[in-house]
Amino acid sequence: MITRMSSLFLRTLREDPADAEVPSHRLLVRAGYVRRVAPGGYSWLPLGLRVLRRIENVVREEMNAFGAQEIQFPALLPREPYEATGRWTEYGDALFRLKDRKGADYLLGPTHEELFALTVKGEFTSYKDYPVVLYQIQTKYRDEARPRAGILRGREFVMKDSYSFDLDDEGLAKSYELHRQAYTKLFDRLGIEYVVVKATSGAMGGSASEEFLAVAETGEDTYVRSTESGYAANVEAVTTPAPEAKPIEGLPEAKTHHTPNTPTIESLVAFLNEAGLGRTFTAADTLKNVLVKTRQPGAKEWELLAIGLPGDREVDTKRLEASLEPAEFELLEEADFKKNPFLVKGYIGPKALKDNGVRYLLDPRVVDGTAWVTGADERDHHVVDLVAGRDFTGDGVIEAAEVREGDASPDGKGTLVAARGIEIGHIFQLGRKYADAFSLDALGPDSKPIRITMGSYGVGVSRLVGVLAEQNHDDLGIIWPREVSPFDVHVVIAGKDETIAAGAEKLAAELDAAGIEVVLDDRKASPGVKFADAELVGVPTILVVGRGLANGVVEVKDRRTGDREEIAVDAVVEHLV
Ligand code: ATP
Ligand code: MG
Ligand code: MG
Ligand code: MG
Repeated sequence: MITRMSSLFLRTLREDPADAEVPSHRLLVRAGYVRRVAPGGYSWLPLGLRVLRRIENVVREEMNAFGAQEIQFPALLPREPYEATGRWTEYGDALFRLKDRKGADYLLGPTHEELFALTVKGEFTSYKDYPVVLYQIQTKYRDEARPRAGILRGREFVMKDSYSFDLDDEGLAKSYELHRQAYTKLFDRLGIEYVVVKATSGAMGGSASEEFLAVAETGEDTYVRSTESGYAANVEAVTTPAPEAKPIEGLPEAKTHHTPNTPTIESLVAFLNEAGLGRTFTAADTLKNVLVKTRQPGAKEWELLAIGLPGDREVDTKRLEASLEPAEFELLEEADFKKNPFLVKGYIGPKALKDNGVRYLLDPRVVDGTAWVTGADERDHHVVDLVAGRDFTGDGVIEAAEVREGDASPDGKGTLVAARGIEIGHIFQLGRKYADAFSLDALGPDSKPIRITMGSYGVGVSRLVGVLAEQNHDDLGIIWPREVSPFDVHVVIAGKDETIAAGAEKLAAELDAAGIEVVLDDRKASPGVKFADAELVGVPTILVVGRGLANGVVEVKDRRTGDREEIAVDAVVEHLV
């Protein structure tokens, strides 16, 4: 079917939207692909929906090709399964929670491990049923702290999420590899420039994990890669060997206090007040900037805990209480953290914190009197495995900031170079965390239960629309790769002459009959307006039917290269199929 610009639900904009920070956002709005409804919430207009559907289909084909089966869950989910895995609480502020009219708790699914595990448990019981891979292409909800760049980071977005269920670790490794290959194929088909990097497994738990990052200066992820080997990792996941670690001299003497065996916020507050820090603490409001060491009853190792750091919108007392389970506290010091624009690694000493304005402490631990800690200005960003003497020495001396270009690659081959990317896919070997939560077992050949092991795999389907525009544009507009373009050929009627319009209609009909998706600019607008819109909308081939028609030729323009070619009218269809 020919799409006519005269009736297409499309209005392009001359002005950039005021809130657009990155090119893809600017162009997708200007070219009429999406419209903003709320922070991180966008409507898909006809052009945008066509691109989204084409991407979905590429993803679907590559998933089906290795035997994954498509199903679909609701986005509106009951609390209980997420309660069972702890994620109702652990997911924190990013989870959209709501109540139904009877007061029952619900959530809008941010990811569906729980539901897939429960569903497989309900249907498959024998070892003969496994392995199985299930997937859905579905709307996800996350109350992102900073929705940004249009559809690149939405609060409602489309994800392909799949889950593998295997009887053993070898099976899981195979399912993981099948996903890795499928992702490589589908991102190649979409013509995306990307890298595969080692990733942290984060809140998901589990072991092996890799991210697919689309290369983009505007990306939020920083990755490093070796100049000489294939090593590449998200900076969050960079690990460095620690052969030369030296213990640190001169740790400050901490005051030791003990709290009751079952600490509560109240007991912690009482403990802090007893410690005589020169100010009075109350439960949530002033519990800020406090560092304590905690220790499980009977345990050797201390852990460091930073409480109520600036930037925490509120201290979630439930979560804090959970983290206070260790029954012993030792107060280090009250520190006044400043805002810090970059990652720092360093010794936990309060002076170091003060001098370097560390806001968030992640992965803190004390081993043999040496404090190992990472600090960052943002949550969810951290580096691990610091080397004493190399990354930091003594109190307050911080030598390295961020994983730097020029650092030796952790595999010993070459040095690291850094670049930025946008996460488009993520593959995880989850292991048995979810199977344990729901006792997901298969009955083995000897009638003994076998605990299932899972993988989880995501592709940011709607984000890919933004990523493709980010990687394929120029000053004039978007330049779609053929595989996802909303149309194959953009036919422009350039002239008022009736014979030109008739010639263009005839060509459009012939192209359509040959299976080519045509958009025909049959509006009464000037050729200048039509050309500008054609460049903006970004269909890869523009066919201009104008005065040349009288001499039997039309112009074929390649949107990407700008090359123009005069083609004989009767050769056009053959030229373009
Ligand atoms: P990010 O690091 O960008 O926040 P994530 O690691 O939280 O992503 P996953 O839980 O791994 O995301 O989800 C799988 C995929 O879903 C991601 O690789 C990404 O492509 C996509 N995705 C995640 N969050 C969003 C979002 N807010 N908007 C659009 N796509 C998203
Ligand atoms: Mg995220
Ligand atoms: Mg991520
Ligand atoms: Mg991820």
